[in-house]
Amino acid sequence: MSEKFDVIIIGAGPGGYVAAVRCAQLGLKTACVEKRKTLGGTCLNVGCIPSKALLQSSEKFEDAAHHFADIGIEAKPKLNWKKMQGFKSEVVEANTKGIEFLFKKNKITRLEGTGKILSAGKVDVDGTTYEADNIIIATGSDVVSLPGIEIDEKKIVSSTGGLELSDVPKDMVVIGGGVIGLELGTVYRRLGANVTVIEYMDQILPGMDGEVRKEANKLFGKQGIKFKLSSKVLEAKAGIAGVTLKVEPAAGGDAETIKTDIVLMAVGRKPYTSGLGLEEAGVKLDDRGRIEVDEFFETSVEGVYAIGDVIKGPMLAHKAEDEGVVLAEMLAGESGHIDYNCIPGVVYTWPEVAAVGRTEEQLKEEGVKYNTGKFPFMANGRARAMNMTDGFVKILACAKTDRVLGAHMVGPNVGDLISEVVTVMEFEGTAEDIARTCHAHPTLTEVVKEAALAVHKRPIHI
Ligand code: FAD
Ligand code: NAD
Repeated sequence: MSEKFDVIIIGAGPGGYVAAVRCAQLGLKTACVEKRKTLGGTCLNVGCIPSKALLQSSEKFEDAAHHFADIGIEAKPKLNWKKMQGFKSEVVEANTKGIEFLFKKNKITRLEGTGKILSAGKVDVDGTTYEADNIIIATGSDVVSLPGIEIDEKKIVSSTGGLELSDVPKDMVVIGGGVIGLELGTVYRRLGANVTVIEYMDQILPGMDGEVRKEANKLFGKQGIKFKLSSKVLEAKAGIAGVTLKVEPAAGGDAETIKTDIVLMAVGRKPYTSGLGLEEAGVKLDDRGRIEVDEFFETSVEGVYAIGDVIKGPMLAHKAEDEGVVLAEMLAGESGHIDYNCIPGVVYTWPEVAAVGRTEEQLKEEGVKYNTGKFPFMANGRARAMNMTDGFVKILACAKTDRVLGAHMVGPNVGDLISEVVTVMEFEGTAEDIARTCHAHPTLTEVVKEAALAVHKRPIHI
């Protein structure tokens, strides 16, 4: 038997490492088990951070190749893919090292190895048993494939292999028109690949507001991504020359054969619980393989908690982080709360897509009466000066109380603009609150203000 801790966290992703930092700040003796060589989980190593590094770099390449000329800059960029990949690795390293620094600064014990729960209060790490009053499972999620399709990470890749391709392919098929498919599809489209997205549903970005989905589809189509909607991939086989796919209409019908160089599988992720010893320890899973928790993040075993991608809710880094903070505070005797309606979602394509709260479709289904205010970037001076006028901001407010119920955006920097609406929603504010707030001129934030004014049919600039 080894050292005893107040808290042992299994997994050092955004859920686990943030919970560890907050526990340590609150004076709890904290250890964090991680089986990867580096800290930061999916997000820092093979998710948010490397994908955003490639999105930023490829966006600059595309600007130089296609958009600089519009504003009087003649340029002929040449891609150095190895260097772009090298930059991405440097960004990842700087971020993962940053978490190492935070662990040292906060005196968090890092346990390198695979954690397994032996029973309440006991965790095995590669043969050594550690004791703790509380155990937090933050083991995240893993890629999924489709039946009959084997991910080899060479020709048929998940997002992990998709971030590491040795060359930019000539032709790429992306299975799944969700967040990963559109972000990584955009990276390779910008760098010269011919990209086709095959999506099972009749629209991309499931779960988002209908109008936003349509606009995003139109804009990404204009940029050159081909979409095959309402289509089902039956088979994908890798050979020497590339990959051959069999695809049929989702509703059934004749199958067609498609040949491509690389297939990116992006049909969702599943909770990662393998090797944790959950069954033996008595920790229950739900029907989708997620760890079941109550409102205090406690599992079916007293003293064992779970947060992040491994439990219900959106698989997002900031959701995992917020759960880590709230749980740490509850374990330290404080109270905490998360309003899951106020968790924003952002797709980091260009233009970006961002959303918070209810969609129009959800409000209609729930029978809630609402007013809509919409304002286009085309009518904003700063967007014009940036030569980035695609998209709009839409705000949905309760017809009776004017309280903001949701916001849905496509456009430049909307991933940043959404946070104003998130704050207003957290404070149960109204569209009038946004409309009466002074927004600096000339900024893109004025589009949010104008959309709020449009809720009451009084936008100024349209
Ligand atoms: P994870 O980050 O998955 O971390 C879990 C950690 O636990 C891993 O390091 C794993 O090695 C470790 N582990 C698992 N089992 C054990 C064990 N038994 N013992 C020890 N260690 C173990 N989200 C966003 O909000 N914004 C984005 O832009 C974004 N982009 C993404 C891009 C891609 C390509 C992908 C794949 C995901 C992206 N996500 C994004 C989602 C985000 O990465 C996850 O929601 C987030 O990482 C979940 O955090 P987590 O702490 O729950 O789990
Ligand atoms: P997703 O759920 O966003 O999209 C999966 C898509 O695949 C959906 O559109 C779905 O309809 C489609 N699909 C499912 N089965 C299919 C089939 N048989 N044939 C064709 N299409 C099919 O999942 P993802 O893009 O893999 O991302 C996984 C998770 O990672 C998401 O939950 C997301 O929140 C997170 N993530 C977030 C970000 C971000 O916040 N910017 C970026 C990347 C990933």
